[in-house]
Amino acid sequence: MTEEPKPAATGGGPGGEPGGGVGACAAVIVAAGRGVRAGGDVPKQYARIGGEPVLRRTVGVFAAHPAVSTVVAVIHPDDAALARQAAGPARVHFVDGGASRQESVYNGLKFLDNLDPEFVLVHDAARPFVTADIVGKCLDAARRHAAAAAGVPMADTVKRTDEAGVVTDTIARDRLWRAQTPQAFRYRDLMAAHEAAAGRALTDDAAVAEAAGFAVAMSPGSEDNFKITAAEDLARADRIARALAPRVTVVGHGFDVHAFGPGDHIVLCGVRIGHSRGLEGHSDADAALHALTDALLGALGEGDIGQHFPDSDPQWRGAASDRFVRHALGLAAAADGRLINLDLTIVCERPKLQPHYDAMKRSLCALTGLPPARIGLKATTTEKLGFTGRGEGLAAQAVVSLDLPDTV
Ligand code: MG
Repeated sequence: MTEEPKPAATGGGPGGEPGGGVGACAAVIVAAGRGVRAGGDVPKQYARIGGEPVLRRTVGVFAAHPAVSTVVAVIHPDDAALARQAAGPARVHFVDGGASRQESVYNGLKFLDNLDPEFVLVHDAARPFVTADIVGKCLDAARRHAAAAAGVPMADTVKRTDEAGVVTDTIARDRLWRAQTPQAFRYRDLMAAHEAAAGRALTDDAAVAEAAGFAVAMSPGSEDNFKITAAEDLARADRIARALAPRVTVVGHGFDVHAFGPGDHIVLCGVRIGHSRGLEGHSDADAALHALTDALLGALGEGDIGQHFPDSDPQWRGAASDRFVRHALGLAAAADGRLINLDLTIVCERPKLQPHYDAMKRSLCALTGLPPARIGLKATTTEKLGFTGRGEGLAAQAVVSLDLPDTV
């Protein structure tokens, strides 16, 4: 499915066509591996981290970089549909990879032949936390030297062992680096170096350039610019992606009223409280949990409890109201939301609720997973004014705050 190479661009057309020639820089993203060592049923570069495919993050950094005019993703021919979907909206050219990483890079380079950029960056798709700064510094180093590779100085002591795993020597770590990508080259130099290296297995493009006699400078990479290889790397990448994603704190408010009627107890916050009257309602009439449910739904912009659990539906008759809260918490979890706190105020003249605070708070902790310090629970009277003051019913108000991805 390799695209037809475009004729040499004259640079920067109105449609954002790729620019080539003097000063131009193309990026070759190596995404042709099929390894599923990282787990899952798709190669790691298509796995999702922080809700987004790895490849999308990676190509996004290069596509958005002001120095990069063209992005080429080298993919396995069987993954064409997967790759296009994963790459997302960024303008990317797709090229079929070869039998080895080295061949795949060479295929990407050949695709750029007509474009003839002055520089080319080669980067592993499975390093999604590359930054514009790392790319820029690598390219600057390549402009000053013949070539450059991002990397990090070795912090650990390096040992060499014999076959039995016994240390034979300790290697001085000063001036030792762990090489990463991106690696930057003058395009024609790297083409020539790859042609000279054909048939030799070299582990990265810097090694290809070194073998051809080009000076390769190291430029600053980062510990986060690691390569996703094993399942634990994918989990770490997911954690980092989530931590980097912009989030917002939203607030929701809920209010509910139920009338007193015949009965010998009421239910508030899921706790049965003995009383000379009961509360009327379709479910167990737990106004506190209904207000809490509405507060959660309100924070999520998801309507109200009546829309999710209609009164007309007989299955909610007498239902314990914790299920409504669980439903709203499930919607929050599905939105990658985290409940930060809740604050409940119950308005009633009687029964006196203070003796039940501990039980009600324990119930709310169990239901929401919040620690006691993140749960406010208060009761007030209305000084014998209004319907609550006359003992006709009780009211509950809830406020919640939720931490949510800022995706709107
Ligand atoms: Mg209600």
